[in-house]
Amino acid sequence: MSEFDFDVFVIGAGSGGVRAARMAAAAGMRVAVAEDRYMGGTCVNVGCVPKKLFVYASGYSESFADARAYGWQSERPDFHWQTLRDNNAREIARLNGIYRDLLAGSGVQVIDGRASIEGPHQVTVHEMRYSAERILVATGGWPFVPEFPGREHVITSNEVFSLAEFPRRVLVVGGGYIAVEFAGIFAGLGAETHLSYRRDLFLRGFDYDIRSFVRDEVAKKGVQLHFNSEIRSIEKQPDGSLLVAMKSEEPLKVDAVLYATGRRPNTVGLGLEALGVATRADGTISVDDSFRTSVPSIYALGDVSGGPQLTPVALAEAMALVKHWQSGRAAEMDYNYIPTAVFCQPNIGTVGLTEEEARDEGISVHVYKSEFKPMRHSVSGRDERTLMKMIVDSRNDKVLGVHMVGPEAGEIIQGMAVALKAGATKETFDRTIGIHPTAAEEFVTMRTPSQD
Ligand code: FAD
Ligand code: NDP
Repeated sequence: MSEFDFDVFVIGAGSGGVRAARMAAAAGMRVAVAEDRYMGGTCVNVGCVPKKLFVYASGYSESFADARAYGWQSERPDFHWQTLRDNNAREIARLNGIYRDLLAGSGVQVIDGRASIEGPHQVTVHEMRYSAERILVATGGWPFVPEFPGREHVITSNEVFSLAEFPRRVLVVGGGYIAVEFAGIFAGLGAETHLSYRRDLFLRGFDYDIRSFVRDEVAKKGVQLHFNSEIRSIEKQPDGSLLVAMKSEEPLKVDAVLYATGRRPNTVGLGLEALGVATRADGTISVDDSFRTSVPSIYALGDVSGGPQLTPVALAEAMALVKHWQSGRAAEMDYNYIPTAVFCQPNIGTVGLTEEEARDEGISVHVYKSEFKPMRHSVSGRDERTLMKMIVDSRNDKVLGVHMVGPEAGEIIQGMAVALKAGATKETFDRTIGIHPTAAEEFVTMRTPSQD
């Protein structure tokens, strides 16, 4: 009989925690998971899932307009925020229930409440003490809002899905995934939408052509872009609106300001410091290749451990960790060729090296590009374009990166990621027969490099 209450105590029932708990239980371990807010974590409750539903909602305004050229003559229906908000909340509640059932069905003990770590093998939730051979910290992240006068008036992605009223004028601050996605959502839903970013072009880290193309496409959707922009202060007006003072720009009057300026690890009150669990300068927990922290019985994965903040990464880390526990061999987590999508409108899908990264690594590359009007808009007349780009190593023909801006880019790039992972060369792409008529077929018909 083990000296511990549990073999594994997971803190946080988000993407990584739930997957680790279920897999560990399936492997015969005695598992508990503590969760203090919502089953399924950020992704299910205030992240990927509601965000994608809101993206769908926002896309209808263009669909209604475009449909007229295809013969659909009825008037555009009005948008009703509360319906979207409440249907979203119902769907999330349904998913919460599924997650809870999945855990219970796997034999995992679910403990509701905020956990803190009291010792290398001790966890406390609501003054109840539990012992575990291993503790897994999967507590995710939390929105970060910088300090400035009027900070208390802003919302973050935590609040945006449940606002009482639809904000008719919105300012989104930031230039990463969340800012660009929500600028598209609000513009599509009909709000006057501004995006303020502190440097000269948003989506830092993405391929430059993709970034500048998205800038132009997002602007066409009516988002007013403020680059090299800085928020000075926000004052609430008697009518409830917000007056935003900006550096070297006229003040803006809006109904909501959404800050999307990154996320910080959710470690407050966990007890890491007292235990001597090493963290990095940004507060993320340092782990080795097997997700072990500086305290050998304590592990960490997902957003809190500082890797790419993506649900599939947290899931893959959880699976790698449990396999490591089972086999005793080193954890096998491969961070190469992680595909990702930004659900701005049109979407970005990307996998592998950007052109800039390849050149910075001293690789001589062939770059293939294709830009066109999506077929749907040949009839709708909408001024929207698609960009596809492929980076190829000129020494061995290996495809190093594939990038796209266009409808369903995420769906298309997922398949490309398999090809890149398998080591596909440009010749493999060239020998692949296309599916006609699709946008994706462009990736197998690009013949002439645009530059060397
Ligand atoms: P989380 O899912 O954040 O789970 C952590 C859990 O731990 C939470 O439920 C929290 O309540 C709980 N917790 C924290 N501290 C304690 C404690 N002390 N005791 C008990 N419980 C605790 N990723 C994608 O791949 N695709 C997307 O489209 C996408 N969209 C996103 C949109 C938004 C708006 C946001 C914010 C994120 C998005 N992400 C997306 C990122 C994705 O949500 C995260 O990478 C993922 O949820 C990380 O999983 P995790 O298990 O590390 O943490
Ligand atoms: P990101 O890290 O993507 O972007 C943060 C943005 O805020 C950057 O543009 C950054 O600017 C800016 N910023 C940071 N600090 C400040 C500051 N003090 N003042 C002004 N601007 C600032 O974070 P997000 O919040 O957008 O999203 C968090 C993470 O969640 C993402 O990185 C992603 O991993 C994940 N996510 C994934 C999604 C998906 O898969 N589709 C969707 C949404 C989120 P700078 O460029 O100058 O650093």
